[in-house]
Amino acid sequence: MSRSQSLFQRAQQHIPGGVNSPVRAFKSVGGTPLFFKHAEGAYVIDEDDKRYVDYVGSWGPMILGHSHPQVLAAVRSQLEHGLSYGAPTALEVEMADLLCSLVPSLDMVRMVNSGTEATMSAIRLARGYTGRDSIIKFEGCYHGHSDSLLVKAGSGALTFGVPNSPGVPQAFARHTLTLPFNDLAAVERTLDETREQVACIIVEPIAGNMNCVPPAPGFLQGLREACDKHGVVLIFDEVMTGFRVALGGAQALYGVTPDLSTFGKIIGGGMPVGAFGGKREIMQQISPLGPVYQAGTLSGNPLAMAAGLATLRLITESGFHQRLTDFTTALLRGLQALADATGVPFTTTQAGGMFGLFFSEQREIRSFADATGCNLERFNRFFHQMLQSGVYLAPSAFEAGFTSAAHGDTELTLTLDAAKQAFAAL
Ligand code: PMP
Repeated sequence: MSRSQSLFQRAQQHIPGGVNSPVRAFKSVGGTPLFFKHAEGAYVIDEDDKRYVDYVGSWGPMILGHSHPQVLAAVRSQLEHGLSYGAPTALEVEMADLLCSLVPSLDMVRMVNSGTEATMSAIRLARGYTGRDSIIKFEGCYHGHSDSLLVKAGSGALTFGVPNSPGVPQAFARHTLTLPFNDLAAVERTLDETREQVACIIVEPIAGNMNCVPPAPGFLQGLREACDKHGVVLIFDEVMTGFRVALGGAQALYGVTPDLSTFGKIIGGGMPVGAFGGKREIMQQISPLGPVYQAGTLSGNPLAMAAGLATLRLITESGFHQRLTDFTTALLRGLQALADATGVPFTTTQAGGMFGLFFSEQREIRSFADATGCNLERFNRFFHQMLQSGVYLAPSAFEAGFTSAAHGDTELTLTLDAAKQAFAAL
């Protein structure tokens, strides 16, 4: 028995499902989840000392690759000064200044501890600001696990077939209107019909929790216009896309300005972090300036700020996102060529350093139905073939993949060699 197998057995005794977050359990792909003990650059190393090229990157934060020396040094240096004070720090001021300078739609920003907290708080703020109760989200988009947002949700909720979680009262779910992603007409119709009951629209500007589905041309701009017309707060959930698809996030890539944005992952450099921010007029409603309550014992934690600041400084270097995008494009081109050569129906999507792999006859993926209509059994076999050859993909067909600055020619060759065998085995 491998060490991962024996750890997984032991884990199930005292941890539900043996994991602290559902998709880690390998339930949809089958088999035993790998337990990791080390990560460096583009690689993760499991408890049995096997190395894998990593395309999960802790689900997005590790854009520089793992254990980047400057990020580790920043954390080490802060470590000498204590772990948490529960009081303001210069690091938080630096973080807020940097975020607001990199993302023009941010006038003010509040730090929290996870993406879930960021979206939950942004929605409360939108409700408090507008005095309205309903929210619009899109099918297959995942915004964390707060009650209002576990309605037709993506990610693990989709992977495990429980997009509407038990435990969310009907009275809450009633206020969450779920519409098809990329369907602007449905948004306009709903806003016309509901007449000033909708507080906000929350959207992943590039959906990354039902695999990776880019917005249709005009979709985000259309949301902006519909929100302006109806006095609705537009929230871009950039927890995944922020600082990854472009330095200024998806809003920079598509040139659409939301009222509020949420972030996480990269801005913590691998430490637990989230943030929400936006227009001053709205952000001023947050406590202690305004009446909308929001707080956190560890919010703005100095270690998280140190890791996040070091990461953000490194990714602002000129050409960073272009190199990341170029690597990702080369990877996807290589995979597509291999699939085509073996006649396996396959297509890919990409936004900067974020990508989707679809075992699908369909060439263009635009909707939840497109994304979920792919061949799951084939994905699962591909996943395990790749794993065997030392390539770690997300253990679910409904998650985006992530590249890092540490991925280069060696990793590209390794990945494509593995994929050649994997496609052939399908
Ligand atoms: N929003 C999006 C777009 C996400 O991808 C995620 C997590 N993958 C979240 C929110 C929730 O973040 P967290 O897991 O940090 O709570």
